[in-house]
Amino acid sequence: MDFGLSEEQEMIQKAARDFAAKAVAPRARELDEKSEWPTDLVQQMADLGFLGIAIPDELGGGGADYVSYALAMIEISKACASTGVIMSVNNSLVCDPIYKFGSAEQHEKFLKPLASGEKLGCFGLTEPSSGSDASDMQTVAVQEGDEWVINGAKNWITNGPHADTCVVFCCTDRSQGARGTTAFIIEKGTPGYEPQPADHKLGIHAAHSCTLFFEGCRIPDANRLGEVGGGFKIAMNTLDGGRIGIAAQALGIAEAAYEKAVQYSKERKAFGQPLAKKQAIQFKIADMAIDLAAARALILKAAVLKEKARTEKVRHTSESAMAKLYASEMATRVTHQALQVFGGYGYSKEYDMERHYRDARITEIYEGTSEIMRIVIGANALKGA
Ligand SMILES: Cc1cc2nc3c(=O)[nH]c(=O)nc-3n(C[C@H](O)[C@H](O)[C@H](O)COP(=O)(O)OP(=O)(O)OC[C@H]3O[C@@H](n4cnc5c(N)ncnc54)[C@H](O)[C@@H]3O)c2cc1C
Repeated sequence: MDFGLSEEQEMIQKAARDFAAKAVAPRARELDEKSEWPTDLVQQMADLGFLGIAIPDELGGGGADYVSYALAMIEISKACASTGVIMSVNNSLVCDPIYKFGSAEQHEKFLKPLASGEKLGCFGLTEPSSGSDASDMQTVAVQEGDEWVINGAKNWITNGPHADTCVVFCCTDRSQGARGTTAFIIEKGTPGYEPQPADHKLGIHAAHSCTLFFEGCRIPDANRLGEVGGGFKIAMNTLDGGRIGIAAQALGIAEAAYEKAVQYSKERKAFGQPLAKKQAIQFKIADMAIDLAAARALILKAAVLKEKARTEKVRHTSESAMAKLYASEMATRVTHQALQVFGGYGYSKEYDMERHYRDARITEIYEGTSEIMRIVIGANALKGA
């Protein structure tokens, strides 16, 4: 597969790199320390067309391809993993399913403002008692005439405290199992839709997540996304794409840690020599460099296939899961080793390394844990897919 970047892909990568260096990186440590939502950076991402980057222009998006999306995600996450995941959720988990499964009216009403960044979205699948086994959801939607009444709770919803629009999955027929799940679009301010305060967590402090309560939340049937009973398929299809975004986030975090470790190893001396002269340190750097290159290749391959799938009958479930699994476990390994190169200073809040180390960990959990990724890859391999 040829990963030579087109002129447009290189231009988007450069725009993201410049934005990350000038606007994002200088704020990242403080945003993390204060657990502060980056309102201004979200606005700037909207202005740059990054919040709906792969949605066609005529639907309010940036009109770019999924490779450009992955490249931009890597650059922004390299500066700040929180800002990266805010972008990823809006693109992959909100714009994408509305683009693919929404009606023309839903494109006009919901997708255009989300893809242009005028509005921000969140994706509600996980519940207090079900995550990996998403079909076992307790949130229910009951039809009353041409309305649906939703009751239940979703938790860990990234962007939840700030989102204008939520794509949410509800059980509409328990007897049908996963086929009894339906997706809906809910707008902020709808009575009975109640986002809770932001969660406290190990990393990605500036990317607020929260629990969403639904209490007698009444929405019109016009807000149903896709068919009744088609929600689980929408959720799985969406996550197939989302995993490329999280893999790119993981690679960005790991690249940041790696580059800082390389630089530090040239400056810090021990036993009369820079650390970089020690073979033990050189071996760590070699292992990290290989890991980064392998993750990048898997991510680009999955992104190329996802782009192809716009016009051809091509699947990328396994490739997206491979990219996500490899890149996220790689980010944990690389940030661990990069912190080791920094010695005690790696453990200090004075440097970014401890933030990269904490931020990497979530990439092995959300949008499907490493265990679930292995199940997906194994099942596809055994099917010969
Ligand atoms: C910061 C953060 C942000 C998030 N953002 C969102 C969001 O925006 N929207 C959303 O819907 N969700 C979100 N999530 C939820 C996330 O996707 C889930 O936490 C994740 O899917 C795992 O589900 P769980 O936490 O319920 O763990 P569980 O499913 O309870 O799993 C616990 C452990 O058991 C393992 N396990 C489960 N089943 C199997 C199996 N069959 N075989 C082997 N091992 C298994 C898991 O891999 C895991 O290690 C977020 C989570 C966090 C922490």
